Amino acid sequence: MAPMTSSPGPAARPLLNRRLAEFGTTIFAEMSALAARTGAINLGQGFPDTDGPESVREAAVRALRDGRGNQYPPGDGVPELRTAIAAHQADRYGLAYDPGTEVLVTTGATEAIAASLLALVEPGDEVVALEPYYDSYAASIALAGGTRVPVTLRPRDGRFRLDLDELRAAVTPRTRLLLINTPHNPTGTVLTRDELTEIARLAVERDLLVLTDEVYEHLVFAEPAGSADGGEGADGGEGADGGEGADAGRHVPLATLPGMRERTLTISSAGKTFSFTGWKVGWVTGPPPLVAAVRSAKQFLTYVSGGPFQYAVAEALSLPRAYFDGLRTELRAKRDLLARGLTEAGFEVYLPAGTYFITTDVRPLGERDGFAFCRALPERAGVVAIPNAVFYDDREAGAPFVRFAFCKREEVLREAVHRLKRLTA
Ligand SMILES: *Cc1c(COP(=O)(O)O)cnc(C)c1O
Repeated sequence: MAPMTSSPGPAARPLLNRRLAEFGTTIFAEMSALAARTGAINLGQGFPDTDGPESVREAAVRALRDGRGNQYPPGDGVPELRTAIAAHQADRYGLAYDPGTEVLVTTGATEAIAASLLALVEPGDEVVALEPYYDSYAASIALAGGTRVPVTLRPRDGRFRLDLDELRAAVTPRTRLLLINTPHNPTGTVLTRDELTEIARLAVERDLLVLTDEVYEHLVFAEPAGSADGGEGADGGEGADGGEGADAGRHVPLATLPGMRERTLTISSAGKTFSFTGWKVGWVTGPPPLVAAVRSAKQFLTYVSGGPFQYAVAEALSLPRAYFDGLRTELRAKRDLLARGLTEAGFEVYLPAGTYFITTDVRPLGERDGFAFCRALPERAGVVAIPNAVFYDDREAGAPFVRFAFCKREEVLREAVHRLKRLTA
């Protein structure tokens, strides 16, 4: 036996480095375990309970069988996929990107976010991000040594809104980039043209980089409520489409606004658009110097991934418009079903203009703390939801909000709605 030495062992300091220390296990692990233990319907984590198109699955099988992508694909992604991504941005949004220098395929949007932040942020840089944040933002900013500066979306007239003065005030000389997410998870807000215009103006004025997460680009159901001064608010069901403008249901990429293309990295992913969240094929588009920077970080994270799936996603991006319209129509019907049920069960519902999440306020049910509410919900009603507070630095601001996912089979949603009525029975 070796004698005890005086050099400090692993127990002498916390094992987890200080950048990650504040991040425990994600809430999804806890809530999914709770769902499994109680047999509750899991409307917590946002993944579809049916797979995407058969033809796309078959394309992956063909690629595997034909030996396409079974060995390391090119570091930027297979040319077929980069070309399809560029064609998608051009056809949908009139954004021209060179597949050779302005498109990078990543391991899901998650890696695109992490690699972008690791590449662009120096320790001490501030990153202004919309709060509540998507799950990985805070941890990725922390890994990059950055400081996050939240701008909190707050509900007003039925919709979570960006306070443009607050956004302006959040920018300091140390601000390196704005991290935007629209359609926004978890609130379901779609930023209005006015909000996007103001973000763009600020970015140009202060010469900021912009990272925009647009993974729900194909899940925009309507022009955001109140955006055309209609202020119709959430009515918890049908009829929210009144006052749709010409842009109804149309995603507006931040990169299309004046002065933005040259400073913006746009992130998307096949996971949400094609219901293959397990494939983890994502991408980033932007001007060559920005994409080159992201590539520098990405090459040492995964280098490459998902070779055969990349070929399949290239085919998926070329599916006829009917596929994308069908996805949106189907999810919109599910949104309305769940929104109506939640309203009837006593929640205040913020009808989402996009994504596949509904954020609710539990205060009308006599509750104040979304955390406690979600921990008890499986026992009380046989349903699992996520407390939005976990997506906030300002836990108090997020306390009353609870998120439900509606990317589930209709019969599952119907049963969930039925069970939720127990809350008021
Ligand atoms: C799901 C999601 C992601 C992660 O996408 P992957 O392609 O699965 O990595 C990123 N951002 C938002 C807002 C999401 O909802």
